[in-house]
Amino acid sequence: MTTVPLFSTVGVTATVDLASAVQRVMDSHWYILGKEVSEFEREFAEYCGVPYCVGLANGTDALELALRSVGAGEGDRVVLAANAGFYGSTAVRIIGAVPVYTDVDPQTLTLAPTALRKVLEKGVKAIIVTHLYGQLADVTTIVDLAAEFDVPVIEDCAQAHGAARGGRRAGAFGHVGCFSFYPTKNLGALGDGGAVITSRAEIAARVRRLRQYGWGAKYHVEAPGGRNSRLDEIQAAVLRAKLRHLDAWNARRRAVARSYNEAFVELPARFPPSTGEDYVAHLYVLRVANRARFRKVLNERGVASDVHYPVPDHLQPGYPCEDGKGALPVTEAACDSVVSLPCFPGIKDEQVEQVIEAVKLAAQ
Ligand SMILES: *Cc1c(COP(=O)(O)O)cnc(C)c1O
Repeated sequence: MTTVPLFSTVGVTATVDLASAVQRVMDSHWYILGKEVSEFEREFAEYCGVPYCVGLANGTDALELALRSVGAGEGDRVVLAANAGFYGSTAVRIIGAVPVYTDVDPQTLTLAPTALRKVLEKGVKAIIVTHLYGQLADVTTIVDLAAEFDVPVIEDCAQAHGAARGGRRAGAFGHVGCFSFYPTKNLGALGDGGAVITSRAEIAARVRRLRQYGWGAKYHVEAPGGRNSRLDEIQAAVLRAKLRHLDAWNARRRAVARSYNEAFVELPARFPPSTGEDYVAHLYVLRVANRARFRKVLNERGVASDVHYPVPDHLQPGYPCEDGKGALPVTEAACDSVVSLPCFPGIKDEQVEQVIEAVKLAAQ
């Protein structure tokens, strides 16, 4: 019995000519902020249906620079969910802002608008909404609510490249959308990468300055809070080659999720609420009662699994928080029960079958 990995690039990378993308950069002898980056920015903005994209070094930087670009800084309150892997919290902490956690919707595990309203009434500087597992949050409701309070919305789209609702794609709903191109993401580089997208020229201009020391013109520091966070030419060339396949890869991920949902319908487990275009199946996540035992059985049947994420942000020991255990019941229950199954575009049908059989056994 072979093991089904949680994720693998074998199978899809072979179908893309990445070598000539890399060679093209080597032949150009230009490695940082050149033609590949600007072309990728143009192509990715177009794909997302917005006018601007700014390439960055990774997704966490994207969140940080997005926060700075909407004017958030030292001491400002930023509202976000506590079940999304601490990435948003990292960005909030880096700028010296204060995270305000609200509970998530029990169905989608994304920011719940009712809980959000209560926090907005107390005053916040920005909202980060994470499209967790590739599932679009209730983002139009959140954007409308935010507009009522005149608060900018930052979408964390690191797991949701291409997810769409009503003809609009992830990152195009709020003020600014943040992406990671970490290798396991739906659009992944051969290393680290990130970007922000926006429809607002002033936000794009600010992030462009912040990603390179706050420079306006070369060696002229015009904006505070700047640093070095650039997407490099090789990664941009690779991403350009892979972007052409993103829709097909998302379709395959979604089809796998659909097979799982159909197979698991009778099981005592909760599964992803949508397999429509608003879910790009970055992670296929079940919620089960006895996770340790469940994962042990999967492991014995050669099926890898993981937990995204085991510790809610407000209970992370690195940043002791006023909110203790019990403050966010839905979030905490989710962290105790979620388990991610293999779901990636190169997965073979027989591997999907192996996962299904193992899960049926494990869930009994
Ligand atoms: C991966 C991820 C990030 C961070 O991306 P990096 O490129 O690793 O910094 C941010 N948010 C979410 C939801 C992610 O999954």
